Amino acid sequence: MSICYLDGSYQPLAEARISPMDRGFLFGDGAYEVIPAYSRRPFRVAEHIARLGRTLDAVRIPNPHPAAEWEAIVRELVARNAWDDQSIYLHVSRGPDERRNHAFPAVARPTVFLMSEALVTPPAEVLARGVAAVSAADFRWARCDLKTTALLANCLLRQVAVDKGCAETVLFRDGFLTEGAASNIFIVRDGVLLAPPKSHLMLPGITYDVVLELAARHGLEHAVREILEDEVRTADEVWLTSSTKEVLAITSLDGRPVGDGKPGPVGRTMLAWYQDFKSKVMRGD
Ligand code: PLP
Repeated sequence: MSICYLDGSYQPLAEARISPMDRGFLFGDGAYEVIPAYSRRPFRVAEHIARLGRTLDAVRIPNPHPAAEWEAIVRELVARNAWDDQSIYLHVSRGPDERRNHAFPAVARPTVFLMSEALVTPPAEVLARGVAAVSAADFRWARCDLKTTALLANCLLRQVAVDKGCAETVLFRDGFLTEGAASNIFIVRDGVLLAPPKSHLMLPGITYDVVLELAARHGLEHAVREILEDEVRTADEVWLTSSTKEVLAITSLDGRPVGDGKPGPVGRTMLAWYQDFKSKVMRGD
Protein backbone atom coordinates (compact mmCIF):
# COMPACT_ATOMS: atom_id res chain seq x y z
CA MET A 1 0.00 0.00 0.00
CA SER A 2 1.44 3.34 -1.07
CA ILE A 3 1.40 6.07 1.57
CA CYS A 4 1.08 9.70 0.53
CA TYR A 5 1.15 13.02 2.37
CA LEU A 6 -1.75 15.43 1.92
CA ASP A 7 -2.02 18.74 3.79
CA GLY A 8 -0.39 17.61 7.00
CA SER A 9 -1.34 13.95 7.21
CA TYR A 10 0.17 10.69 5.99
CA GLN A 11 -2.50 8.41 4.54
CA PRO A 12 -3.05 5.61 2.01
CA LEU A 13 -2.83 7.06 -1.50
CA ALA A 14 -6.08 5.29 -2.45
CA GLU A 15 -7.94 7.26 0.24
CA ALA A 16 -6.50 10.73 -0.48
CA ARG A 17 -9.07 13.31 -1.68
CA ILE A 18 -8.85 16.91 -2.87
CA SER A 19 -11.55 19.35 -3.95
CA PRO A 20 -12.40 19.64 -7.68
CA MET A 21 -12.24 23.41 -6.99
CA ASP A 22 -8.49 23.08 -6.39
CA ARG A 23 -6.68 25.38 -8.83
CA GLY A 24 -4.14 22.65 -9.46
CA PHE A 25 -7.02 20.67 -11.03
CA LEU A 26 -8.79 23.59 -12.73
CA PHE A 27 -5.79 25.53 -14.06
CA GLY A 28 -2.66 23.39 -13.62
CA ASP A 29 -1.80 26.14 -11.13
CA GLY A 30 1.01 24.60 -9.12
CA ALA A 31 4.66 23.67 -8.76
CA TYR A 32 6.24 20.24 -8.41
CA GLU A 33 9.44 18.27 -7.94
CA VAL A 34 10.46 14.66 -8.49
CA ILE A 35 13.15 13.55 -6.02
CA PRO A 36 14.84 10.16 -6.31
CA ALA A 37 15.77 8.31 -3.10
CA TYR A 38 18.41 5.58 -3.26
CA SER A 39 18.59 3.09 -0.40
CA ARG A 40 16.14 5.44 1.36
CA ARG A 41 18.48 8.44 1.03
CA PRO A 42 16.92 11.34 -0.93
CA PHE A 43 19.35 12.48 -3.63
CA ARG A 44 20.18 16.20 -3.81
CA VAL A 45 17.11 16.97 -1.72
CA ALA A 46 18.32 20.46 -0.76
CA GLU A 47 18.72 21.35 -4.45
CA HIS A 48 15.23 20.05 -5.30
CA ILE A 49 13.69 22.02 -2.41
CA ALA A 50 15.58 25.15 -3.50
CA ARG A 51 14.28 24.77 -7.08
CA LEU A 52 10.75 24.29 -5.71
CA GLY A 53 11.17 27.55 -3.77
CA ARG A 54 12.25 29.38 -6.94
CA THR A 55 9.21 28.08 -8.85
CA LEU A 56 6.83 28.99 -6.01
CA ASP A 57 8.28 32.50 -5.75
CA ALA A 58 8.03 33.03 -9.51
CA VAL A 59 4.37 31.91 -9.67
CA ARG A 60 3.51 33.75 -6.43
CA ILE A 61 2.36 30.76 -4.38
CA PRO A 62 3.39 31.24 -0.73
CA ASN A 63 5.91 28.53 0.18
CA PRO A 64 4.12 26.49 2.87
CA HIS A 65 7.31 25.17 4.51
CA PRO A 66 10.88 26.19 5.22
CA ALA A 67 13.51 23.88 3.69
CA ALA A 68 14.09 21.87 6.89
CA GLU A 69 10.38 21.04 7.15
CA TRP A 70 10.22 19.99 3.50
CA GLU A 71 13.19 17.70 3.99
CA ALA A 72 11.60 16.19 7.11
CA ILE A 73 8.34 15.46 5.20
CA VAL A 74 10.28 13.86 2.33
CA ARG A 75 12.30 11.68 4.73
CA GLU A 76 9.20 10.64 6.68
CA LEU A 77 7.37 9.69 3.48
CA VAL A 78 10.35 7.62 2.34
CA ALA A 79 10.40 5.89 5.74
CA ARG A 80 6.66 5.08 5.53
CA ASN A 81 6.86 3.48 2.08
CA ALA A 82 8.05 0.00 1.26
CA TRP A 83 10.70 0.44 -1.44
CA ASP A 84 14.40 1.07 -0.81
CA ASP A 85 14.66 3.12 -4.02
CA GLN A 86 11.80 5.58 -4.41
CA SER A 87 10.68 8.39 -6.66
CA ILE A 88 9.09 11.09 -4.52
CA TYR A 89 6.58 13.32 -6.30
CA LEU A 90 6.09 16.64 -4.44
CA HIS A 91 3.31 19.01 -5.51
CA VAL A 92 2.11 22.39 -4.24
CA SER A 93 -0.95 23.90 -5.89
CA ARG A 94 -2.44 27.32 -5.21
CA GLY A 95 -5.25 25.42 -3.49
CA PRO A 96 -9.05 25.58 -3.65
CA ASP A 97 -11.30 28.61 -4.27
CA GLU A 98 -15.05 29.21 -3.92
CA ARG A 99 -15.51 29.99 -7.62
CA ARG A 100 -13.60 29.24 -10.78
CA ASN A 101 -11.78 32.48 -11.33
CA HIS A 102 -8.50 33.13 -13.15
CA ALA A 103 -7.44 35.72 -10.56
CA PHE A 104 -5.82 34.35 -7.41
CA PRO A 105 -8.02 33.72 -4.34
CA ALA A 106 -7.90 36.54 -1.77
CA VAL A 107 -6.55 34.11 0.81
CA ALA A 108 -4.11 31.50 -0.45
CA ARG A 109 -4.45 28.01 1.02
CA PRO A 110 -1.89 25.96 -0.93
CA THR A 111 -2.53 22.23 -1.24
CA VAL A 112 0.53 20.14 -0.41
CA PHE A 113 0.65 16.62 -1.81
CA LEU A 114 3.51 14.12 -1.89
CA MET A 115 3.45 10.52 -3.07
CA SER A 116 6.00 7.81 -3.55
CA GLU A 117 6.51 5.23 -6.28
CA ALA A 118 9.14 2.55 -6.72
CA LEU A 119 12.08 4.20 -8.51
CA VAL A 120 12.60 2.44 -11.82
CA THR A 121 15.83 3.54 -13.52
CA PRO A 122 16.75 2.25 -17.01
CA PRO A 123 17.77 -1.43 -16.88
CA ALA A 124 21.31 -2.46 -17.90
CA GLU A 125 20.27 -3.65 -21.38
CA VAL A 126 18.64 -0.27 -22.15
CA LEU A 127 21.74 1.57 -20.91
CA ALA A 128 23.90 -0.67 -23.13
CA ARG A 129 21.70 -0.21 -26.22
CA GLY A 130 20.54 3.40 -25.78
CA VAL A 131 17.12 4.67 -26.82
CA ALA A 132 15.50 6.12 -29.93
CA ALA A 133 14.22 9.71 -29.95
CA VAL A 134 12.33 11.98 -32.32
CA SER A 135 12.52 15.75 -32.61
CA ALA A 136 9.83 18.43 -32.56
CA ALA A 137 9.48 22.19 -32.50
CA ASP A 138 9.39 23.43 -28.91
CA PHE A 139 6.03 25.19 -28.69
CA ARG A 140 5.94 25.58 -24.89
CA TRP A 141 5.59 28.90 -23.08
CA ALA A 142 8.51 31.22 -22.31
CA ARG A 143 9.03 30.12 -18.66
CA CYS A 144 10.30 26.59 -19.17
CA ASP A 145 12.75 27.25 -16.30
CA LEU A 146 9.84 26.85 -13.86
CA LYS A 147 8.77 23.37 -12.78
CA THR A 148 5.03 23.94 -12.90
CA THR A 149 2.29 21.32 -13.01
CA ALA A 150 0.89 22.87 -16.22
CA LEU A 151 2.50 20.18 -18.36
CA LEU A 152 0.07 19.77 -21.25
CA ALA A 153 2.62 20.93 -23.84
CA ASN A 154 5.24 18.54 -22.42
CA CYS A 155 2.68 15.70 -22.47
CA LEU A 156 1.77 16.40 -26.12
CA LEU A 157 5.45 16.57 -27.06
CA ARG A 158 6.32 13.34 -25.21
CA GLN A 159 3.40 11.59 -26.91
CA VAL A 160 4.94 12.41 -30.31
CA ALA A 161 7.80 10.09 -29.28
CA VAL A 162 5.57 7.41 -27.77
CA ASP A 163 3.40 7.29 -30.92
CA LYS A 164 6.55 6.46 -32.90
CA GLY A 165 7.77 3.84 -30.40
CA CYS A 166 10.50 6.21 -29.14
CA ALA A 167 11.59 7.17 -25.63
CA GLU A 168 11.92 10.96 -25.83
CA THR A 169 11.27 14.04 -27.96
CA VAL A 170 14.26 16.36 -28.46
CA LEU A 171 13.08 19.96 -28.71
CA PHE A 172 14.38 22.72 -30.96
CA ARG A 173 13.35 26.36 -30.82
CA ASP A 174 14.38 28.80 -33.56
CA GLY A 175 17.09 26.41 -34.75
CA PHE A 176 18.61 25.79 -31.29
CA LEU A 177 18.44 22.84 -28.89
CA THR A 178 16.43 23.52 -25.76
CA GLU A 179 15.86 20.19 -23.93
CA GLY A 180 13.73 17.04 -24.03
CA ALA A 181 10.00 16.79 -23.24
CA ALA A 182 10.97 15.59 -19.74
CA SER A 183 14.77 15.65 -19.71
CA ASN A 184 17.82 17.77 -20.45
CA ILE A 185 19.91 17.01 -23.53
CA PHE A 186 23.70 16.93 -23.85
CA ILE A 187 25.76 16.27 -26.98
CA VAL A 188 29.36 15.24 -27.63
CA ARG A 189 31.34 16.49 -30.64
CA ASP A 190 35.01 15.64 -31.16
CA GLY A 191 35.30 14.45 -27.55
CA VAL A 192 33.91 17.70 -26.10
CA LEU A 193 30.75 17.59 -23.98
CA LEU A 194 28.34 20.40 -24.89
CA ALA A 195 25.34 21.57 -22.86
CA PRO A 196 22.85 24.35 -23.66
CA PRO A 197 23.02 27.24 -21.17
CA LYS A 198 20.35 27.64 -18.50
CA SER A 199 17.73 30.12 -19.61
CA HIS A 200 13.99 30.71 -19.46
CA LEU A 201 13.69 28.15 -22.29
CA MET A 202 14.76 25.05 -20.33
CA LEU A 203 14.42 23.52 -16.92
CA PRO A 204 17.62 23.78 -14.86
CA GLY A 205 17.91 20.05 -14.19
CA ILE A 206 19.39 18.72 -10.98
CA THR A 207 20.96 15.88 -13.02
CA TYR A 208 22.24 18.46 -15.56
CA ASP A 209 24.14 20.13 -12.70
CA VAL A 210 25.51 16.80 -11.45
CA VAL A 211 26.73 15.90 -14.97
CA LEU A 212 28.54 19.24 -15.36
CA GLU A 213 30.03 18.90 -11.86
CA LEU A 214 31.31 15.42 -12.73
CA ALA A 215 32.74 16.67 -16.03
CA ALA A 216 34.63 19.42 -14.17
CA ARG A 217 35.78 17.09 -11.38
CA HIS A 218 37.17 14.51 -13.82
CA GLY A 219 38.70 17.02 -16.24
CA LEU A 220 36.39 16.16 -19.14
CA GLU A 221 36.54 18.94 -21.73
CA HIS A 222 33.14 20.62 -21.82
CA ALA A 223 31.41 23.84 -22.77
CA VAL A 224 28.06 25.39 -21.92
CA ARG A 225 26.84 27.26 -24.98
CA GLU A 226 23.97 27.56 -27.44
CA ILE A 227 23.77 24.40 -29.57
CA LEU A 228 22.51 24.52 -33.15
CA GLU A 229 19.98 21.95 -34.34
CA ASP A 230 22.45 20.87 -37.00
CA GLU A 231 25.12 20.24 -34.35
CA VAL A 232 22.74 17.83 -32.61
CA ARG A 233 21.93 16.04 -35.84
CA THR A 234 25.63 15.54 -36.65
CA ALA A 235 26.81 14.91 -33.05
CA ASP A 236 28.97 11.90 -32.14
CA GLU A 237 26.81 11.32 -29.05
CA VAL A 238 23.51 12.62 -27.71
CA TRP A 239 22.35 11.91 -24.15
CA LEU A 240 19.30 12.69 -22.11
CA THR A 241 19.45 13.26 -18.37
CA SER A 242 16.83 13.36 -15.64
CA SER A 243 16.39 12.32 -12.02
CA THR A 244 14.75 9.02 -12.97
CA LYS A 245 16.46 8.29 -16.35
CA GLU A 246 19.88 9.43 -15.00
CA VAL A 247 22.29 9.50 -18.01
CA LEU A 248 20.88 7.69 -21.02
CA ALA A 249 22.30 7.59 -24.55
CA ILE A 250 20.06 8.54 -27.48
CA THR A 251 21.32 6.30 -30.26
CA SER A 252 18.89 7.27 -32.99
CA LEU A 253 17.19 10.58 -33.75
CA ASP A 254 14.30 10.76 -36.22
CA GLY A 255 15.19 7.28 -37.49
CA ARG A 256 18.84 8.12 -38.22
CA PRO A 257 21.71 6.71 -36.11
CA VAL A 258 23.53 9.06 -33.72
CA GLY A 259 27.27 8.52 -34.34
CA ASP A 260 27.69 4.80 -34.98
CA GLY A 261 24.28 4.04 -33.48
CA LYS A 262 25.66 2.78 -30.17
CA PRO A 263 26.23 4.55 -26.83
CA GLY A 264 29.56 6.38 -27.23
CA PRO A 265 32.66 6.32 -25.04
CA VAL A 266 32.13 9.71 -23.39
CA GLY A 267 28.57 8.81 -22.38
CA ARG A 268 29.64 5.41 -21.06
CA THR A 269 32.32 7.10 -18.96
CA MET A 270 29.88 9.72 -17.64
CA LEU A 271 27.39 7.00 -16.73
CA ALA A 272 30.11 5.17 -14.76
CA TRP A 273 30.99 8.41 -12.91
CA TYR A 274 27.31 9.05 -12.24
CA GLN A 275 26.76 5.56 -10.86
CA ASP A 276 29.86 5.82 -8.69
CA PHE A 277 28.65 9.18 -7.35
CA LYS A 278 25.20 7.70 -6.69
CA SER A 279 26.62 4.74 -4.79
CA LYS A 280 28.55 7.15 -2.56
CA VAL A 281 25.24 8.89 -1.82
CA MET A 282 23.69 5.49 -1.06
CA ARG A 283 26.50 4.75 1.39
CA GLY A 284 25.97 8.18 2.93
CA ASP A 285 29.52 9.42 2.12
N1 PLP B 1 13.57 19.13 -18.38
C1 PLP B 1 12.28 18.81 -18.20
C2 PLP B 1 11.25 19.45 -19.07
C3 PLP B 1 11.91 17.87 -17.22
O1 PLP B 1 10.62 17.57 -17.03
C4 PLP B 1 12.93 17.28 -16.43
C5 PLP B 1 12.60 16.29 -15.40
O2 PLP B 1 11.52 15.79 -15.30
C6 PLP B 1 14.26 17.62 -16.67
C7 PLP B 1 14.55 18.57 -17.65
C8 PLP B 1 15.37 17.01 -15.86
O3 PLP B 1 15.41 17.57 -14.57
P1 PLP B 1 15.99 16.78 -13.33
O4 PLP B 1 17.37 16.36 -13.70
O5 PLP B 1 15.97 17.77 -12.22
O6 PLP B 1 15.10 15.59 -13.10
